Amino acid sequence: MPKGVTCSVANCNFWKEGNNCGADEIKIEIDQHAGANLNEEFAGDELGLYHQDEAKQSAATCCQTFKPKE
Ligand code: SF4
Repeated sequence: MPKGVTCSVANCNFWKEGNNCGADEIKIEIDQHAGANLNEEFAGDELGLYHQDEAKQSAATCCQTFKPKE
């Protein structure tokens, strides 16, 4: 798995407890909304290092390797 990849997408098939990514490799794409979401929706203390979120599909994350848990 990639070393040092901290990920908060807890409903990804590759996600491991402790906010680690268990995929052999990952592909990252630009997410035009990432900056806006960080500023508007997760301002202040809400976006901690160990917060957890859920995504419905890979397009909603910056990670193209994302796969929803079965
Ligand atoms: S979303 Fe990407 S970085 Fe996060 S656990 Fe899944 S594959 Fe790894």
